[in-house]
Amino acid sequence: MRYFSTRDKGLKVSFEQAVKQGLAPNRGLFMPEEYIKLDTEFWANLFDMSLPEIGYHVGKGYVGDEIPDEDFKKLCNEVLNFDIPLVRVKDQVYSLELFHGPTCAFKDVGARFMARCLGYFSSRKNEKTVILVATSGDTGSAVANGFLNVPGVDVIILYPSGKVSEIQEKQLTTNGGNITALEVNGVFDDCQALVKTAFSKFDTKGKFSLTSANSINIARLIPQSFYYYYAVKQLKSFESVICVPSGNFGNITGGILALKSGLKVNHFVAATNANDTVPQYLQTGVYKPKPSVQTISNAMDVGDPSNFERLDEIFSHNSKNFASVISSYSFSDEETKKKMKMVYSEYGYTLDPHGAVGMLGIEKYLKENASGCPGVFLETAHPAKFLDVVEQAVGVTPDLPENLKKCLGKEKVSIKIENDYKELEKILSERYL
Ligand SMILES: *Cc1c(COP(=O)(O)O)cnc(C)c1O
Repeated sequence: MRYFSTRDKGLKVSFEQAVKQGLAPNRGLFMPEEYIKLDTEFWANLFDMSLPEIGYHVGKGYVGDEIPDEDFKKLCNEVLNFDIPLVRVKDQVYSLELFHGPTCAFKDVGARFMARCLGYFSSRKNEKTVILVATSGDTGSAVANGFLNVPGVDVIILYPSGKVSEIQEKQLTTNGGNITALEVNGVFDDCQALVKTAFSKFDTKGKFSLTSANSINIARLIPQSFYYYYAVKQLKSFESVICVPSGNFGNITGGILALKSGLKVNHFVAATNANDTVPQYLQTGVYKPKPSVQTISNAMDVGDPSNFERLDEIFSHNSKNFASVISSYSFSDEETKKKMKMVYSEYGYTLDPHGAVGMLGIEKYLKENASGCPGVFLETAHPAKFLDVVEQAVGVTPDLPENLKKCLGKEKVSIKIENDYKELEKILSERYL
């Protein structure tokens, strides 16, 4: 499979190049040159396949022969070693729980897949890769954990001292191994500026490559298509509507890639919080990005979704094509909290605020379209990760999952640095030059 850039159709690169570069020149995004094809045997066996088996068969279409079959099979087994269960919440409405990974958020799937692909390419060439990542909390822990113990790759996380929650700090600073946490005396923007300066100024003298684990990397997107097949497998039905709580629209782009490969899903719904750029686009036909507003489902506070460009490409820059496959609705924080409370009291199911937006979306679609087919929403984070919101909206304290408990009991290890590029430069030089 070759990958083209959304901003230069003539530019085509291999999977390895697309993963290593992340962003195409001119800030384009890499897209597969064609939709993958799955044989009749795959579709005939889908309902009996395990998650790693699905990952292997689907992923192979994207990776081609750039990673040998045996290595790729092993990679999929490692990446997909936790379940993604489909849980019935009420009649005809199911939650696909994507939060059973090591950091309890769906970004685990993408981060782990990308980490192991990059690890494979680095180790084969005996290269050292250093990932620099600035984080305001969640993305950093999924990325760090994804790369934990991946040979040939080190991760250096920069986070703002005193500006992340206790759980988040523990998730960033208790990994050990090839993960280093730098606690910066500054705010998130300072961390990001330090990383950018390092990318433009640091001379690696050819001894290693310095790279980012940006969320638009195609290797974070591809594995996000796997669990749509797995949802259909668990539902055992080729009729369904799937709703994705969306921020940067990477998750739903994974769903559309699955659809285009032949997965039978009747319709998709993208549910957003007050950041309603895409719902507005579908109403007006005009894409008008705006500044993000803060909400209780803060991982979706995005006013200019980075993957819109990929969807726009898939739907041939036509909002009617887009709307024929994806409906999109926006919900307020009030509606979200009310849903969380109601679902807990009526069905005994605890939603996190992102999943609640997803459930609002699927119910609205099913009600307005009376389609009679089952609806699935993606539950993207464990409710314990949004403790304050859940306690306030629902009035109960969700149990901490084992993975979070484990890291809370460990000791924090970080290196404190000032908001000064010289300090970051010194650490990189001492370690790698
Ligand atoms: C990142 C994230 C989302 C949004 O996913 P996109 O791919 O950016 O649309 C939703 N929920 C949670 C918990 C997230 O971390």
